[in-house]
Amino acid sequence: MKKYLALICIPLIISCESAEKKTTTNNEDQLKELNAFLDAYNSELQGLYYESAKAQWKLNTRLEEGDTVTNKLATEAEEALAAFMGSEENISKGKSFLEMKDELDPLQIKQLEAILYNAGNNPATVSEIVKERIAAETEQVELLFGFEMKIDDEVVDGNDINAILKDSKDLDERLKAWEASKEVGVTLKDGLYNLQRLRNESVQALGYADYFDYQVSDYGMTKEELMQTCKDMIQVMWPLYRELHTWARYELANKFDQEVPDYIPAHWLTNKWGQEWGAMINVEGVDLDSKLEAKGAEWIIKEGENFYKSLGFEALPESFYTESSLYPAPKDANYKKNSHASAWHLNLDQDVRSLMSVVPNTEWWGTTLHELGHIYYFLSYSNSEVPLVLRGGANRAYHEAMGSLIGLAALQKPFLVDRGLMDPEIELDEMNLLLSEALDFVVLIPWGAGVMTEFEHDLYAKNLPKDQFNQRWWELKKKYQGIVPPTERGEEYCDAASKTHINNDAAQYYDYAMSNILLFQFHNHIAKNILKQDPHATNYFGSKETGEFIKSLMVKGATVDWRKDLEEKLGEGMNANGMAEYFAPLLGHLKTLNEGRSHSLPESL
Ligand SMILES: [Zn+2]
Repeated sequence: MKKYLALICIPLIISCESAEKKTTTNNEDQLKELNAFLDAYNSELQGLYYESAKAQWKLNTRLEEGDTVTNKLATEAEEALAAFMGSEENISKGKSFLEMKDELDPLQIKQLEAILYNAGNNPATVSEIVKERIAAETEQVELLFGFEMKIDDEVVDGNDINAILKDSKDLDERLKAWEASKEVGVTLKDGLYNLQRLRNESVQALGYADYFDYQVSDYGMTKEELMQTCKDMIQVMWPLYRELHTWARYELANKFDQEVPDYIPAHWLTNKWGQEWGAMINVEGVDLDSKLEAKGAEWIIKEGENFYKSLGFEALPESFYTESSLYPAPKDANYKKNSHASAWHLNLDQDVRSLMSVVPNTEWWGTTLHELGHIYYFLSYSNSEVPLVLRGGANRAYHEAMGSLIGLAALQKPFLVDRGLMDPEIELDEMNLLLSEALDFVVLIPWGAGVMTEFEHDLYAKNLPKDQFNQRWWELKKKYQGIVPPTERGEEYCDAASKTHINNDAAQYYDYAMSNILLFQFHNHIAKNILKQDPHATNYFGSKETGEFIKSLMVKGATVDWRKDLEEKLGEGMNANGMAEYFAPLLGHLKTLNEGRSHSLPESL
């Protein structure tokens, strides 16, 4: 769902003076030149970004059979955008203006930093390496998505594997499905090794230590600060994760009629990577399908918009409805559309669209409100105070946190009763509901902030040797998740590479873990300080004050220093205490349930 912009920058109107000369000319001239540079950059960025986004949009929403042109146009538009962002001119201007940092205002500095960050991925100064890297990335993605998975020589797809892992009680069948899902890693190992070097070299040209360092710099943090932040959040959630792990070992052993293992065999879990375990249980009562079916898919979207309007947001632009692709393609359609929900900010201004396939059911209800969260975030920072290059989240995790915040609130009982989607008399098993939320939100923390982050840190920052890829991966899986491979996984495999992000969204997975903890910080603040309601049972609908708070988080985009801003808004920095507090009742419950059971994970990490 990460389909909101990657920040970008633009090449300037050339001035006749060199940057060096500028330091001796008068200050006003330099500032004039800087402003001209920034204006030109922002406007060129917008044009190129729009072209690229429109081409991508068509590729994702209306790809007709036999159409070979759209893909080519999309690639060309993307290349034009990348060439602009990484141009030597933007790099040298950006750098030289930053040398006069002391005389610049924070907004100018932020823009210049964003310009250089955007250049970092495609610096024209090492165009051969960049070219090689882009080709290697494209090949990696083609290998990944084109790979034919097989079980007993029968071709299967991702849905088949997911269905087996979700429902099958036959451990042999599960093992085959799990192994089939990892087979692609063998094909991808050489490519990942190659990308390790190419990614590092392309950013080193701009002074970053390595690719991990480059990705982290977007947060205004050092690698060390980021790794510490990840450690801290795992530590705070560890007591609960340890109980969840214990509960899951006994639950699964019972399900499969096996001895209770110390560590969870990976093929016992419902997810290929064990990243979220929510599918392990069903929660009675939160099934809104029949009510939503009676109302229809269009109602869901209108009601989602109504919700935001009730908080004080404007109506969506008319073009949202005319340009978006909101419903499944008809069965007999001569085109394909991507089935994954996403939100788009096409011209970094009012052209906002969503790609969904809404049908009236509970899942799409939550997803629609989540996607509209991204859309309203786009619209909020599209104002004259926020330059184009800074139209993004306060940090990369904020966008997802906003969507998930509203997605969580959209499924709480008082809100659902208020909107006529749930009968007030219905008895919910509150503890089971909390457990199901924890199995997704909490279980992701040691995976996202631990396994994925530390593996990619080692891969890029420590140049992890190729003959240790799989060994390191499973060391981390065991340490952070308490998960072990079902069979020996030697270096002929590369199980990390079976995860899409390792290949095409590299070294930024901690974004998801941060989103999860931010979401609970925001939600607890709204529940306790604004609504004065129990965080487990809120109704945001109609609360203008809640809307004001959410808008205040959104409206400044990436112009703010997110750490200062958070401190001002919440009186604390980013931390997992809010998440721990929200799930505190569950911790007590699980401790009772797990009494007398063995815990295999240590008490602290
Ligand atoms: Zn999202």
